Amino acid sequence: MRPWIGITCGFDADEHQFRLNTPYQQAIEAAGGVPVLLGASPDLAADLLSRLDGLLFTGGADLDPALYGLEPAAGLGGVSPARDAFEIALVREAYRAGVPTLGICRGCQLLAAAGGGTLFQDLPSERPGSLKHFQDAPRGHKSHAVELVPGTYLAETIGQTQIKVNSFHHQAVRTLPEGAILAATAPDGVVEAFEDPRHPHWLAVQWHPEGLWRDDPAALALFRSLVEAAKKVVSA
Ligand code: MN
Repeated sequence: MRPWIGITCGFDADEHQFRLNTPYQQAIEAAGGVPVLLGASPDLAADLLSRLDGLLFTGGADLDPALYGLEPAAGLGGVSPARDAFEIALVREAYRAGVPTLGICRGCQLLAAAGGGTLFQDLPSERPGSLKHFQDAPRGHKSHAVELVPGTYLAETIGQTQIKVNSFHHQAVRTLPEGAILAATAPDGVVEAFEDPRHPHWLAVQWHPEGLWRDDPAALALFRSLVEAAKKVVSA
């Protein structure tokens, strides 16, 4: 049976709309999962999760820095408090329940903040000398290098330690959550991925594999590994 993979959506409170870029849904289907688009109140997170086999936290607005104990810096972008509340409830329940989880971009930052890590609110202003991490190039263009940490789940999944990725973020993980390990860095030292070896599948990447998977086996491998881990939930 194909596992059901929940996919979080952007939420525009002013327009009363959920939004999702379709390549996330297409990537989950290509990897063998059934995509289930999520939108619910935070108090339904546990009930929702009990019917899912895996989770994908997608990109989008900045997290409210109050979630990691900071006041808003001048470089902070738009935030989405309703989305934050739902996703924080979901991600904490997913960790507790051992549900295979992949975080992409904002999702990476969410996994960090939910576990007690912190973020740079704006790389250009708070970390001068960083590479250009918000590329002015198409989604499928791989603009900067990433070095994977040998021996990590990520490096095993991708099967290489040097790759190139696309990059559309102005924030980044500053300190990892307790118990997590670094899995990849950009050449400037910015955290590009982390994972939690205590969990069956808890992986966070700062780049956007959903924009690369059609032409890039290293990107498709991330969705495949999530779906494969979720299949073990289905058969358990
Ligand atoms: Mn980057």
